[in-house]
This record gives sequence, C-alpha cells and structure tokens, in this order.
Amino acid sequence: MVIFKEIKPLKAYLNAHRATANSIGFVPTMGALHEGHLSLIKASKAQNTITICSIFVNPAQFNNPTDLEKYPRTLPQDSAMLEKAGCDVLFCPEVSEMYSGPQQLAFDFGHLDKILEGEFRPGHFSGVALVVAKLFNIVRPHRAYFGQKDFQQCKIVSKLAEELKFDIDLIFVPIVREPSGLAMSSRNTRLSEEGKKKASILYQCLQDARYQLLQGKSFSEVKKMVQLFCSQQNVRLEYLALADRVNFTLLENVTEPDQAILLIAGYVEEVRLIDNIYLTDK
Ligand code: AMP
Repeated sequence: MVIFKEIKPLKAYLNAHRATANSIGFVPTMGALHEGHLSLIKASKAQNTITICSIFVNPAQFNNPTDLEKYPRTLPQDSAMLEKAGCDVLFCPEVSEMYSGPQQLAFDFGHLDKILEGEFRPGHFSGVALVVAKLFNIVRPHRAYFGQKDFQQCKIVSKLAEELKFDIDLIFVPIVREPSGLAMSSRNTRLSEEGKKKASILYQCLQDARYQLLQGKSFSEVKKMVQLFCSQQNVRLEYLALADRVNFTLLENVTEPDQAILLIAGYVEEVRLIDNIYLTDK
C-alpha cells in the first residue's frame, strides 16, 4: 500500500493510473477503522482496479469541540488493517493540507441538513459536504463508497454530487453490526464493556419500533414506548424519527412501509451514537 500525506504526489500517482483507464474506487473515512469500514474497502476492491482510502478527521464537521478532541485517532493500526485488507492507497493528510485557513465556504441543502442530525449538529453537513467535495476533486474517483449507517449523510452526498456534477458513481453499503446488533462505529471504542452492552439497546428500539409500526401502532405511541424504555435504561434518547427513505422528509405515520426508514440517535456514557433500519427489506 502506498501512503500519501500530500495532495500533489497523490494526484500525480492517481493520474498515471487514470491514464491507463483503470477504475479508481474511493472510501473516505475518519479512521479508527473497524469491520464496517472494511466492508466498504471490500466492496470497492470487488468493483475497481485501485482502491484508495482516506483517513482525515475533518474539523469542519464537528460542531462539538470535545467530540473532535476525543475522536479516536489510531493511524498505525488503521494502516495495518488497510494493508491486510488489500487497500492500494492511503491518503492521510494533515488539517493544513486540506484547509488553507479558517473555513468560510458553506453549503445549504434545504430540509436535508435542517432535520435530525442537521438539527442536533448545526453546521455538521456543511462541513461534511465541504470535505467530500475537496476529496472528490483531489481523488477524482470513478466510484465512491459510503455506509448506510450514516443514512442522512448518504442523502447529502447524493445531492452534492448531483448539484456539483461530479461524475462519480456513489455506492451505499449496508450497516455492519456487532453480534449484539450494535452498529459498528469508531465511537464505540469510547464505551466501557457495560456501555457497549447498553448501546445495543438502540438497535433493539429500532427493531421493536419497526415491529409495532408494522402491527399498526401509531408512530406517536411507538415513540412514547421507546422514550420510556430508553429513560429506564439510562440511555439519553435524542430522537427517534420516521422518514421517507427516498426524499428524506419526516413522516407522522407509515403510509408506504417499503419507503420508510426509522432513525435513532442517543447518548450512552456521554458518547453520541446513531443507527437506522428500513421498515421492510424491500
Ligand atoms: P467514519 O469514519 O465514521 O466517517 O465512516 C466512514 C465511512 O464508513 C462512512 O461512509 C460511514 O457511513 C461508513 N461506516 C461507518 N460505520 C459503518 C458500519 N457499521 N457499517 C457500514 N459502514 C459504516
């Protein structure tokens, strides 16, 4: 695996590969890699001749300075994992390589960045869009891979690519979970063993909520049930939401189960976790 910290030599390297018409698959990450990230690498390797992974903890997408400071950084282990997974290129720039100074560019995605994660993390999606646009311009991949765990982010990236006319195929990869059902996340490393057990409650809530909704319960009833359960379990629920998985508008109730998604966010041991589940497998 070739490692680049700077943009210029990385571009030169990738241009040489582009010239021979090979396809480039790109997996952007913030590091502290786990099996979820590796599933994106695997998907890219299956479809492309070259796979490049970026590791960059993007300050612009952190609305909470403590979260940025506490974000796990494990570059040597990450690099070894990528090498073992057969990743071809790692791009791990310093902040100064990606940002020439204080950030001024901002994006507005309408309702997409105002609800749920956008409401609870103001500015987050503008920061995500900014770094993804920078990375897309640097790497110019044929395909880019994102996890459905960050479902709202998938919607933002789709809109970004559509509006900025990036000629990149976006591939969204299913959520990889622990045996307990807990969605894998770099933030899970900040949880104690007990915290990890408790965190699987979020997925249980999603499964229970899905079952109850498909049985015909109203979403407001289901939400109350989940709120009560989380408070009893000492999980600070931030939201449980029902949305249309195509246009990502919030729903009051289920009208078309095949188009609905349930999303959850909550705190366990002061660590903010998110998860989601489709209402049906279709
Ligand atoms: P992050 O490093 O958290 O920014 O994540 C980098 C990419 O990996 C994003 O596209 C995430 O959605 C994806 N990802 C993170 N966790 C998982 C998971 N458990 N399953 C699948 N993809 C994931």
